[in-house]
Amino acid sequence: MDLEHRQTDILILGAGGAGLFAALHAQKANPDLDITIVSKGLLGKCGCTRMVQGGYNVALNPGDSVERHFMDTIEGGKWLPHQELAWTLVTKAIERVQELENEIGCFFDRNADGTLHGKAFAGQSFDRTMHKGDLTGIEIINRLMEQVWARPKIRRLEEHRAIALIPATDGALSGALLLDVRSGEFCFLAAQAVLLATGGGPTMYRYHTPSGDKTMDGLAMALRFGLPLRDMEMVQFHPTGLLAGPDTRMTGTVLEEGLRGAGGHLLDGAMHRFMADYDPKLERATRDVVSRAIYAEMRAGRTTKHGGVYIKMSHLGPANVAKEFKGMVDRCRDCGFDLAGGVVEVVPTAHYFMGGVICEVNTATECPGLFVAGEDASGMHGANRLGGNGVANSTVFGGIAGDVMPHWIANKNPGFRSPDPHVIDAELDRAQHPFAKKPGDLNPLRERLLDTMWDEVGVVRDGAGIERALAAIDRIEAELLATGVSDGDRRFNLTWHDWLNLRSLCEVSRVIALAARQRENSRGAHYRSDFPEPGDPATSTFTVARQRAGDIEITEQPVQFTHVKPGETLLRDRVAAE
Ligand SMILES: Cc1cc2nc3c(=O)[nH]c(=O)nc-3n(C[C@H](O)[C@H](O)[C@H](O)COP(=O)(O)OP(=O)(O)OC[C@H]3O[C@@H](n4cnc5c(N)ncnc54)[C@H](O)[C@@H]3O)c2cc1C
Repeated sequence: MDLEHRQTDILILGAGGAGLFAALHAQKANPDLDITIVSKGLLGKCGCTRMVQGGYNVALNPGDSVERHFMDTIEGGKWLPHQELAWTLVTKAIERVQELENEIGCFFDRNADGTLHGKAFAGQSFDRTMHKGDLTGIEIINRLMEQVWARPKIRRLEEHRAIALIPATDGALSGALLLDVRSGEFCFLAAQAVLLATGGGPTMYRYHTPSGDKTMDGLAMALRFGLPLRDMEMVQFHPTGLLAGPDTRMTGTVLEEGLRGAGGHLLDGAMHRFMADYDPKLERATRDVVSRAIYAEMRAGRTTKHGGVYIKMSHLGPANVAKEFKGMVDRCRDCGFDLAGGVVEVVPTAHYFMGGVICEVNTATECPGLFVAGEDASGMHGANRLGGNGVANSTVFGGIAGDVMPHWIANKNPGFRSPDPHVIDAELDRAQHPFAKKPGDLNPLRERLLDTMWDEVGVVRDGAGIERALAAIDRIEAELLATGVSDGDRRFNLTWHDWLNLRSLCEVSRVIALAARQRENSRGAHYRSDFPEPGDPATSTFTVARQRAGDIEITEQPVQFTHVKPGETLLRDRVAAE
């Protein structure tokens, strides 16, 4: 096949908060560099940054501090976060929010005195979640998109899918293989520096929240490239996914955390408020705790019509709820439910992936020239991401990547390396594999993967279930490899993309299961019913997954407590913090 070869100085894979911030910062750092954003979806319409509802955590207001935000992040993450990354997140978030308002053009909600309004989010000791009503992400991504549009020198390859990271003949990074969704044609894009920012997204679970374009492609590519991945067992379930029945894609979409933060109640099928049976913080306990509580109610059969529980807001005053949570109330109304005045069925839903590529504070990976930011990166959140720390993470580290890459190019002068032709050929064969097989139905395979991950590697796990999942994933992947796609027309061939999506999801699902098998304790989002104890925080380890010669090896490394040790705090007045 004749493969078109192109070049760009900085290649950014992904157009969410991380990718767009990186592009803007990189151009500011060196306007002469050629920058290309590649995005599987349409700019401003894809990824999860657009879907951010609740808001953005930042320690700005009197009474709060970065130390307090940091301690919430570390304790919420069950002492597993990489403390330097977490510290960078909380300190740089201040700068980034000011940049969002003063340079990018966002307007967040304010208090009467003009300060930014912070709403309450679960697991936090201060109301620090800045927001634009309950549709914060639309404000952020629209303004970022406008800024990118206003800079025509930033090239955009929309509806282009990254297929593989391509090494140079000397093993360093050369660029990425892309597939133009519109034409169905491949091209190789060489780059001096590449940012991986495809946004993770655990869409291999029966109930999930992320956008449909996110299928863990970035982590699958990183795995095949041989990069180490951290915390892969850590899948965050949001407690309140909308449960609207099996026939609508709205099922699984999230009803934001602020509902519980504002005082919403969770009720079982018999209208009993059950959180007191699980945690003294009731509905304001962290996401992992509330998700497990709901899951326990479901397993005990105390469920609603569709098998979940109810969220009730009406005791806060229907008019008030309709005003404060307009987006959520509208969403529920669109599905036929009255959030302001009645009850709405909810279920835990896979929401965020704490695992990802191991990186430095400056977003560099172990491969020179490859950087990672946003939900593809790991370490900032440990075992549990605080609501509001996700978009802070992607914008903070996306901006850092954008600052760093031009300097890296200037200092290292890597130039453009020749891609390894054997890897390109192998990846082209891999992507076109289904055209060589008899066309078949992918839906049953997808359904089996969704159920396998939900049932066996979901909110509650155990060794036997994980083994069943590993065997099932192998079978599903083998059947996928035997299932073909019609090669009639490759333009917008969405069945082909479904096939590729499923392949990425199978690969990463296997790593999630292997890391979950390795961690024989229960921390944050990872709960093993056969190992319910958290283990000693002082000897905490994190898992590292790496693919070598086709096999995945999982090891453990000790967490470094560089800022604070378990049992200690950075807050002078511990009582005030609680
Ligand atoms: C419903 C919902 C609500 C949320 N609410 C909050 C909240 O209130 N507060 C908070 O802090 N966080 C929230 N989050 C989490 C937050 O949205 C994410 O953590 C964050 O936006 C991720 O940013 P990102 O740039 O890494 O990825 P995204 O914004 O998801 O962008 C990923 C980009 O990568 C592209 N892409 C994917 N695969 C490929 C490929 N193969 N090739 C090329 N491009 C690719 C996508 O098209 C997209 O452009 C929420 C998430 C969801 C799903």
